[in-house]
Formats: sequence, structure tokens, C-alpha cells
Amino acid sequence: MSCRPIIQVALPVPVPRLFDYLTPTDGPVPPVGARVLVPFGRRRLVGLVVAHSEGSDLPADRLLPVGEVLDTDMALLDAHLLALLQWCWQYYKHPPGEVVIGALPPALRRAGTELPAPPLRYRLTGAGRERLQEGPGRAAVQHAMLQALAAGPTAEQSLADIGSRWRKTLARLLEEGWVTGEPVPPDRLRPRRGPELTPDQRGVVDAVGDDLGRFRCHLLDGVTGSGKTEVYLQLLERVLGDGGQALVLVPEIGLTPQLLRRFRLRLGLQPAVLHSGLAAGDRLQAWADARRGRAALVVGTRSALFTPLPRLGLIVLDEEHDASFKQQDGFRYSARDVAVKRAAELQIPVVLGSATPSLESLSNAMQGRYDWHRLRERATRAVLPSWRVLDLRHQEVAGGLAAASLEALAEALGRGEQAMVFLNRRGYAPVLMCQSCGWHASCERCDANLTWHRAAGRLCCHHCGHQRRVPALCPECRADALMSAGAGTQQLEEVLERRFPTTPILRFDRDATARKGVLDRQIEAVREGGPCLLVGTQMLAKGHHFPGMTLVVIVNIDQALYSADYRALERMGQTVQQVAGRAGRGDRVGTVILQTLHPEHPALELLLREGYEAYARWLLDERRLAGLPPAGYQALLRADAHERAEVERFLQQAAAAFPAGATRLFGPMPAIMERVGGRSRMYLMLQAERRSELHGQIDPWLQRLWSLKSARKVRWSIDVDPQEL
Ligand code: ADP
Ligand code: ZN
Ligand code: ZN
Repeated sequence: MSCRPIIQVALPVPVPRLFDYLTPTDGPVPPVGARVLVPFGRRRLVGLVVAHSEGSDLPADRLLPVGEVLDTDMALLDAHLLALLQWCWQYYKHPPGEVVIGALPPALRRAGTELPAPPLRYRLTGAGRERLQEGPGRAAVQHAMLQALAAGPTAEQSLADIGSRWRKTLARLLEEGWVTGEPVPPDRLRPRRGPELTPDQRGVVDAVGDDLGRFRCHLLDGVTGSGKTEVYLQLLERVLGDGGQALVLVPEIGLTPQLLRRFRLRLGLQPAVLHSGLAAGDRLQAWADARRGRAALVVGTRSALFTPLPRLGLIVLDEEHDASFKQQDGFRYSARDVAVKRAAELQIPVVLGSATPSLESLSNAMQGRYDWHRLRERATRAVLPSWRVLDLRHQEVAGGLAAASLEALAEALGRGEQAMVFLNRRGYAPVLMCQSCGWHASCERCDANLTWHRAAGRLCCHHCGHQRRVPALCPECRADALMSAGAGTQQLEEVLERRFPTTPILRFDRDATARKGVLDRQIEAVREGGPCLLVGTQMLAKGHHFPGMTLVVIVNIDQALYSADYRALERMGQTVQQVAGRAGRGDRVGTVILQTLHPEHPALELLLREGYEAYARWLLDERRLAGLPPAGYQALLRADAHERAEVERFLQQAAAAFPAGATRLFGPMPAIMERVGGRSRMYLMLQAERRSELHGQIDPWLQRLWSLKSARKVRWSIDVDPQEL
């Protein structure tokens, strides 16, 4: 390579390529993995150097030089991560710049912020000690500082107490060689010992432990409460004990202070936490600690997958079936699949854990591609809950709850136990309608009803966020005849408050826990064990360990039984099993009541009679017959615009441009909910038996799509391995 290479830069623009720049004529060559500031049209953009190359497709006189190198201390992304990101943009067919820049913490996507240096501490040198012996003379501040340092290594903050001139004085001491600086080592506490592992748990720890230093994907398929987290902890102990780093990914609402505390106490260190809800500064600091190798353990949600970790030795992904691991807009990657890829590239093991594994992972396990570890019993000898199906057709129902459910709740509370009611629908009622003319409140911008939030006196769209006041009279016929239909969590809460006036009722949904700290306070309150009733959505299904909980009522999962989305049954089975798993985790047996209008539905019967694995096998057979994932491979070409006709025209032209081959093409068809936020959403579905067929045909096709005129009238994107239709 010549000494002045071409610099290939990823820029945050929706264009499917990298951009070439010349090396600045005077400065150093911008290193791979560092950020640069470059001219782009009339703007200057922050980009990241992805590679050096010898030449460019463009003539040299059309290339501009890089403006400025922003990271001189160390490259932000190492070669491994750059290779992983490149695999991502090729596999997911997303513009490379958005993939690469999106992997940086937001604070580093701007010029003017650098990777923060680790905090330093200072200690006296031999010469410093001699100087101290000589006494203060006229340099009182200097002497005070030397004295402070004589007590041992001292962090910057403590030196600041000495006086306003501390910084200058410190600089002087460093210059004289009386003091040296070093990074503050991370806090270490004494780790607390965990329980003796059961033979099954031990088997998993040994199997994964044997694979340290080589790639293997382990599926930890263990019922709720079987001790999966204990297994992770022991593996982490081992990896961290050997000086390695580890990455633990959890679903979006799984990242609770309870979980972090468990990690901290057991491992004796503060995990670096990374998720999109953090303040920019905290996120940057945690990312920098990981990058510099100072943070041994990173715990985070989906986006933490791309954290640079120079000594990464193990990846754990908990609740691997959870939908939040798939990004649903922009760069639509699956953190689970990319985690497996990352482990393969690094030659390290990855553990996917779940009580209800995704069909994809089960299928991989069945075919021997993943090691399949099953934990079928609870670690604490608590037995799994028993089921009771309540046929709603023969029940009196009030505000969503059957009379028999209310009775069972009363009995559990009478015994001093805790119970929960699960309903995946927030708000007071999903429908507000006029009894006189049949009008009902729907969103003008979406194909959806507005949900009545009674306490707030508002009608809200749960899809586009639109809100308005509840009308007093029917807007259509002016009759005073508005009434609600169906129940949401707020209504359940009200019904329960009326029925159990002396019992604390805690609601878990996005509205009730919007304020910071509420969710954690409520979880703590439940864990304290006093009698209480929980009402909530999906939020209740995630990993919480509530020892006093003995009864779970599942109010309504019937929509899933007849959904147009072929994944609905898989998700329903997972949710039911996960929610049920909250019952009877302590020393008393749990019961789960499932209310349904379709007790004879074969899927539901199978799930309840034979359990999740048999159910999943049956779903897999169905998918195989239809050639659906994981038995086949899919990608969607998604498009949306205000005008449906524009969307259709683009998708039709795209379909006509699709190269001949084995991939089958369906559509254009409308998304299951076509209109959201005033835009019409449609897609083309591509499906093939082999991944290579699918990708082999999409890649040349994409080039053509970029040049279609109709493409400029719509928003479009490719969704590889889609999870939603
Ligand atoms: P999971 O992650 O599978 O839901 P956890 O690891 O949280 O399960 O374990 C459930 C409960 O059982 C926790 O209270 C945990 O401390 C306890 N536990 C786990 N393993 C053991 C064991 N080997 N012996 C005793 N208790 C255990
Ligand atoms: Zn009316
Ligand atoms: Zn809407």
C-alpha cells in the first residue's frame, strides 16, 4: 500500500455505500476505527474510518481530503467490531454509515466529544517522599498536597479539597517527578457465594466452561425458576476470574435494579450498564470503560451488543425469545443472531437462555447446531404451577374478570398470599362507542380504535400517540349514549379495588410506571411479601421473582388464536408460559387460571396439556409444512407513504424488477395494521428455502431499487428475518 492511502469513511447518511477521502496532506493518516470530520456537500459530518484502500473508483481529483482526525488517543472500534458491523450491513442490507455510526454512543456521534479518559489517582514517588521530608518552606499548598498523597494513592476529587490552586500544584508535582498518576482501578467488593448448584446446573456450567476459548452456541432451556441466572453467574465468575470481559444482554424491561444488584453482590463488581434510556454522559462513560477494558462486565439491552470489549470471553443473552431483541425500525437487526455471529468471530461461547425458547433457537438445538441444555425442575424444589381453564361462555364476567376468578383471588388473599392478573392491554377500555348510532372512537391517522384512558379523561391512540379529550356526547348523533366495551388494565384495577378495598393493588403497565423509580418501588413492595394484588401487562411476564405469588389469572389471550400473523401463536405460548411462571416460586404451590372463549382451541389445549416444548414442536411442524421460518427464510421489502397508490406503484415496480430464481415473491400486500400515523404501510414478502438463494437474489435487486423513480416517493427499507408483518 502506498504511504498515502485512500480513507474509506462510514457517514450517517441513508446511502448504501462508504465514502472515499484523501489523507490530509500534512497531518497523520487517520487510523482505522477512529472518527474523522469530513466535508460532505455543504456540510461537515462526523464519520468513522472503516478501512484504508489503495485506490478509489472515483478519480483522485474528485476526492476531498479528510478535514480532521477526532480520535487521536485510541480507535473507537477495533478490527473485530468493524468486521462484525460490515457483516451486519451486508446481511441486513442497511446503509453502512447508519450501521457504523449507530453503534457509537450518541455523545460520540458529534464532533467535540472524545472518549473520556479514565479517572486518575496519584501517588508519591521516592523523590516525592524526599521532598516531603524537607518540610513546607514557602510552598504550603504543595506541602499539603504531598502530605495528603503520602497516605496512599489519592483520587483527583480528594485532591481538589486542598485548595483552589490544586490543579496547578499537581501539575508542578508531576513535572518534578514527585508524583505519578495512574487510572483508578475499578471497585471490587468481596463476592458473595452462591448456592450449591444442582447437578443439572453444574452440567451446564461445566459444558459451557469447557468451551471457553472456542465458539459454541448453548441454548439454556430452563423453566422459570430453574436457576438459569445462577448458571450465568457461575460462568461469569469464571470468565471474569480469568481476567476476561463478559457481555450480558437482557430484554428492554428486564434491566431492573434487582437484577443489577444480584450481579453486583455475587460478582463483587459494579457492572457497566448500557441502554438507550441512560443520560448521554453516563452512557458514554460506561462505553468508554468497556472500550478501555476497565469494565469487566457489561449488562445492557439490545444496542449494548455493539459495545467494544477488547477481552470479551463470553456472551449471555437472557430471555432470548424476547421480541425486544429485534430492532423494529431503521437498522432492523436481531441482537440474538448478531450475538451468535459475534461469538463465532471471536471464538468464544454464547449462552442463549429462556424458559420458552424461540422456534428458531429450538430448531437449531434440535438439529445439533446448538448445545441444548434442559433444566426441567425449579432449583428451589418449588413445583411448577397447576392449570385451570375457565370457559368464559359459562361465566358471569365483570370488567373482564369471571366470577370464578374473583373467588380464587379472594381465597388466595384470604390465605395471606399474593396474586396477579395479567391483561396485555393498557388503558381503561379499548373501545368507546355510541349505543344509539354505533359510532366508535377511532384514530384518524391509524387503522385502530382509540383507547379510553378514563382517569386522564382522554382517548389515546396506542400506535401513533394521538390523543384527544373524551367527548360528552356522541360526535355523530349528539346522543348522550357513549359507553365503553372491553376492559383494559385500568378497569381491572378499579374492579379489584372495589372487590378488595383493603388490599393494596399495584398496576404494572407503561402508564402506571412511566415515572422513574415507580416500577422498582412496586417490585420491591411485592418482594417484601405482604398481601397484594398485581394487575399488569407484558411487564409482569419478565423474569421477576416474587416468592409470595401463588395465583395468576390470565384474562384474555384469545386474539392470538385467530391472528393473521403466523408468529402470534408462538408469542402467545411464550407469554402464557412466562406469566404462569410467576406463580408458586416460593414454597407454596401455584395456580394459573386462564380465561378464554375458546377452551377447545387445539393450540391452547396442547399448550396447557403438554407444555411449551410439545407446543413448540407442533408449531415447528406447521411452519415446516408452510415453508415458513425457521424452515425457510424471509425478507420483506417494506414501504410506506401518505398515498397508498404511491406505495403500491413502488412495490409493483420492485416486484417486476425482481430477478428470476428460486425465491418466491408475495404481494404487494398491506401490513396487518395498514395505516399508522397517517401513512399507508405495505410490503412485498420474499421467501426461499435457503438463505443463500434469498440473499443472492436480493443483493443485485437492491441496486435496481435505488434507481427506481417511484422509490423516491416512499419511505422504504429491507427487513431481513422479519418478526412483524
Ligand atoms: P431463573 O433465572 O431460571 O428464573 P434463578 O437463577 O433466578 O432462576 O433462580 C430462581 C431462584 O432459585 C432464585 O431465588 C435462586 O437464588 C434460587 N436458586 C437457583 N439455583 C439454586 C440452587 N442450586 N440451590 C438453591 N437455590 C437456587
Ligand atoms: Zn351516536
Ligand atoms: Zn393513531
